Amino acid sequence: MTETLQNLLIRRIQKTGPISLTEFMAEALHNKNFGYYATRDPIGFLGDFTTAPEISQIFGELIGLWILNAHQQQEIDGPLCLVELGPGRGTLMSDILRVLLKFENIEELLEVHLVETNPILRQLQHKLLGNLKVLWHDDLSTLPDQPWFLVANEFLDTLPVTQLIKNGDRWTERLIDYDLARGHFFWTSSGSTSRLSLLISDQVSSKAPDNALLEFSPATLGIFKTIADNTSKKGGAALLIDYGYLKPNFKSSIQAVHDHKMVDPLSNPGTNDISCHVDFQSILHESQFFEINFHGPIPQGDFLISMGINERAERLKHGSSIQQINDIDIAVKRLTAREEMGKLFKVIGLTPKNSPTPLGFMD
Ligand code: SAH
Repeated sequence: MTETLQNLLIRRIQKTGPISLTEFMAEALHNKNFGYYATRDPIGFLGDFTTAPEISQIFGELIGLWILNAHQQQEIDGPLCLVELGPGRGTLMSDILRVLLKFENIEELLEVHLVETNPILRQLQHKLLGNLKVLWHDDLSTLPDQPWFLVANEFLDTLPVTQLIKNGDRWTERLIDYDLARGHFFWTSSGSTSRLSLLISDQVSSKAPDNALLEFSPATLGIFKTIADNTSKKGGAALLIDYGYLKPNFKSSIQAVHDHKMVDPLSNPGTNDISCHVDFQSILHESQFFEINFHGPIPQGDFLISMGINERAERLKHGSSIQQINDIDIAVKRLTAREEMGKLFKVIGLTPKNSPTPLGFMD
């Protein structure tokens, strides 16, 4: 029998019992041999999903402007370290660089650091950006000891979460088991109270109905803390953009996408993009423990409009064909309209304590 991720997970469940969602996500996305992000380019028309930088070059150009402005507001000795987490096909970084490289003398200051685990996407990034000084990292631990000008678009949603479910007055962990007779994975829950329930306030717990679900992502908070710590100690700035919620709605946010369609997250592990909505409230809460200025979360539409997406689109339209003008209008609408990406996607910014409010976050 050829080995598959499904068989590997079934054997593990048979040996040690139901597994956590964190473990299921980590294997389905990152298993070295079968993980979704280890084995393919998932982005774009031929992939499973499309992201903002792939919709329009304006998205990355405005972020380039944001970074440039944040850099100019600080006195930084040494290199300009551009960092991107989960750079996908390299499109966002390439659009950012097009803006930055318009400024004289910037090229010799530039260092590009990409945190990327996917070997296929690394190759695409290399093709697009390889003429500059680019370094790849498996995680944030090897990033330089310098101020970072960091961006992450649709990265946090890929990080594993733990789900707790309310049973009577207890919160137990939601786990994944396998039904051999029917041949599919299914949700179950640990019999005992989860230690993570200590993090749930009495106020939230008493409001939660039976079977309410809460999500925790220690991986997301860990990465946020690393960025916040660096910003507070060294300076720099960060922009994190993702879909997510400001208040938990007691429902599961896990979703899986294959070929641009929603599928069951537990089906065919390793072949679907599995993600969860980002819990922005927990990030906001964590930000209080750092000496930084925290901006947002604000809706992506508001951010892009404040950054000048409409004006930039008008300029791009000059000299364009009717078809191109139409494409630009459609792209701007997709990125900003509330019923499309404009509201669900949110933006947060981190800048050093006492620095001026950055572009895009002013009222
Ligand atoms: N930012 C890009 C791609 C988003 S898809 C865009 O907007 O188009 C998620 C990206 O994160 C991919 O590049 C994927 O390979 C990368 N990724 C996912 N999990 C990761 C992890 N744990 N560490 C580093 N990169 C990861």
